[in-house]
Amino acid sequence: MESEIRSAAKLPAGIAVLGDDGEELTQRAYGEPPHPYRTAFARDGARILHARAFRRLAGKTQVFTRRPGDPPADHFRSRLTHTLEVTQIARTLAGTLGLNTEMAEALALVHDIGHPPYGHAGEKALDQCLRGFGLRFDHNLHALRIVTWFEERYAGFRGLNLTLGVREGIVKHSKDYSAKEHPELSGYFLDEFPPLEAQLIDLADEIAYLTADLDDGLDSGILTLEQVREGVPLFRGFHDNVVREYPGSGEKTSTYEALMGVLNALVTDLLNEVSAGVAAIGATTLEDVRRAPKRLVALGLEMEAARAAAKVFLFDNLYNSPGMEESHQHAAKVVEELFAALMAHPGMLPEDHREEIPTQGLARTVADYIAGMTDSFIEQAWERSSVKE
Ligand code: MG
Repeated sequence: MESEIRSAAKLPAGIAVLGDDGEELTQRAYGEPPHPYRTAFARDGARILHARAFRRLAGKTQVFTRRPGDPPADHFRSRLTHTLEVTQIARTLAGTLGLNTEMAEALALVHDIGHPPYGHAGEKALDQCLRGFGLRFDHNLHALRIVTWFEERYAGFRGLNLTLGVREGIVKHSKDYSAKEHPELSGYFLDEFPPLEAQLIDLADEIAYLTADLDDGLDSGILTLEQVREGVPLFRGFHDNVVREYPGSGEKTSTYEALMGVLNALVTDLLNEVSAGVAAIGATTLEDVRRAPKRLVALGLEMEAARAAAKVFLFDNLYNSPGMEESHQHAAKVVEELFAALMAHPGMLPEDHREEIPTQGLARTVADYIAGMTDSFIEQAWERSSVKE
């Protein structure tokens, strides 16, 4: 069965990004000699893995870190473990489709590197702070600035000097930016779709968090098994099968088995749909993918509807549930108050951030500093700032 999917899903070889040294997509802003035994994209993946911003993902919330009212637990997903799960799915997708797995891996590793502390609540609050100054916070664009400027590891240049292909993927893995609104992105082929290696990251991300958030939501007690069975028909189908096959299985294992079923079904559907989409337009080259009428990485209609329904369920019952409200309010309060304190007292910024003020302006500089923080660091910075005020 698996080998059937494997051969059916393989795309024409010309569609993959080759990643050979000297190709346009392996170009770096600062020229470097090829590595004797590693490809350009393998080096990018390693540079991301060794970056300071990557390690900080361990201290950033994905959805929540504690049951409401409880001390933090140590096994809910963090941004780091979520990132590793996305990477595993992206490698499977890319490998099965015959795409460039090293490029897909580098893009998966970097896809959440621009996220501020406190998950989406922190991101929303930071964006709100910046709106007051006519600016916005966008985690994709922030990720690009991390890899092109904020990381300081190399003697010859600022940033990680990643390949053009990976930088383009950072910008375009989940949305399309217009050249008019973002002239600074003009070097990233904004009128074309990105290669499939980049397109698949967004869906790998969706598949990873959909299943993981159901898992963490159930484990935390915020969601109940009955509620998930009721609200997520896709889950219920697999859960029914597990209970039928293993009538004696406990709630935990039957849940895991069902979630694995959901994950596999989404991945398999995506593989089949990408193959079908590529065949439907007769694409045989990367250029065909770039100029296709739409993005070619998508789920089939039925599975897309099931995914969307599960996402609505998660928003209503987990992300925006009453139990989460208190931690969202706390996140917003900490971000807003720290932002205001640093705007009023820029002297509290560390020296390397103060140096950015003349070119970036104070509001952007303060937001950049906050965006780099982990959850525990921002708590401490906030407490210090309120003492100083
Ligand atoms: Mg993600």
